[in-house]
Amino acid sequence: MDSISFYFLLLIAIVAGWLMSRFMYPRNKIQDKSHNDLFEDYFVGLNYLLNDEPDEAIDTFINALEINSETIETHLALGALLRRRGKVDKAIKVHHALLARPELEQGFSGSARLQLAQDYISAGLLDRAERLLNEVLNENKNFKWEALRFLITIYQTEKEWEQAISSSSMMLANPTFKKDIELRAAAAHYCCEIAEQLLESNNDAGARASIKRAFTFDRRNIRASFLLAKIEQRRGKFKAAIKELVRILASNPDFIGQLLQPLSDCYEQLGSSAGFEKLLRDSLLDSVDVNVMLTLTELIQENSGSESALSFLKQQLSINPSMAGLLKLLGLQIGDADDKSDAGESLRAVQKLLKEMLQKSAEYQCNHCGFESRKFYWMCPSCKKWDRIKPMAQSALR
Ligand SMILES: [Zn+2]
Repeated sequence: MDSISFYFLLLIAIVAGWLMSRFMYPRNKIQDKSHNDLFEDYFVGLNYLLNDEPDEAIDTFINALEINSETIETHLALGALLRRRGKVDKAIKVHHALLARPELEQGFSGSARLQLAQDYISAGLLDRAERLLNEVLNENKNFKWEALRFLITIYQTEKEWEQAISSSSMMLANPTFKKDIELRAAAAHYCCEIAEQLLESNNDAGARASIKRAFTFDRRNIRASFLLAKIEQRRGKFKAAIKELVRILASNPDFIGQLLQPLSDCYEQLGSSAGFEKLLRDSLLDSVDVNVMLTLTELIQENSGSESALSFLKQQLSINPSMAGLLKLLGLQIGDADDKSDAGESLRAVQKLLKEMLQKSAEYQCNHCGFESRKFYWMCPSCKKWDRIKPMAQSALR
């Protein structure tokens, strides 16, 4: 939200709250503050706003507004604003103060507890948030589903995968959320996380069961297919692994970057680099991933020598120019020769410079929050969404 709309919304909320408390409650019923005090606080707060001091303004408005059934939503909104502005301690105080009111209606008690749970999550007090959310959940009221969603976030952060799965299953049993694609994909990833742990402890059968469970949530989950291929590879069933990997490639050409290494390993085990070269040549037409071109150049060099690799790369660069391709070309041109000439030295300097530039450039980007990285993640480390990290179309690598 930009600062203008922030101030505008804040102002509207305050004025509405203030007017309601002023007109809904006759003069003699306002308990602690006189109207004059209210007026004064209101203008002090407004002054803070105009002087670009929103935090002080929020504090003043919170202190000025009596907590009653007419102003409670304003208090909730101001508390949430404080949290969003990073003032979590203050937000907790506001929500505690609301919950300390015994006359608080059931609906508002649920809202206030959900807000407080979010404050705790922001402050990293996950145990407290979890307790509070379970309280709301067990009351089985309207706020149950929101509480459940926050609980899933907590279990995900704490890597409590089984609990994350059972909470997700609970939500998916509700017809409203049954077709929630994000929820289903996340649940499938939780199963994959468990499968990976089982694979690490060499429990292939357990891992398979967990992968099967992942497919019950999301039958097109790519990570689960990757894990199936990994199991086949571990069992020495390289052809079956390649079949699984090619199946992923056919439906998700974007994943070629992640597929290259396991495919290369499997073909190497089968002693069939020609087979790998053929597969990559067939994929090259559909792929914009520079890594396909680079791997293919290496394969051609291995199978047919440097001259063939060089001419293939030159032809590819004329169609899809890229810095990574240029670096590879330089490497092939310079070769292993110990060229001490000025031209040779210059080429090596350019090569070093290009390498440094590429090492700094991001290769992947989250299509939800824009987070950039050189590494692939199933879950974006920044916005915590699954399956949002994609190869960057405009990377310097490309
Ligand atoms: Zn993100």
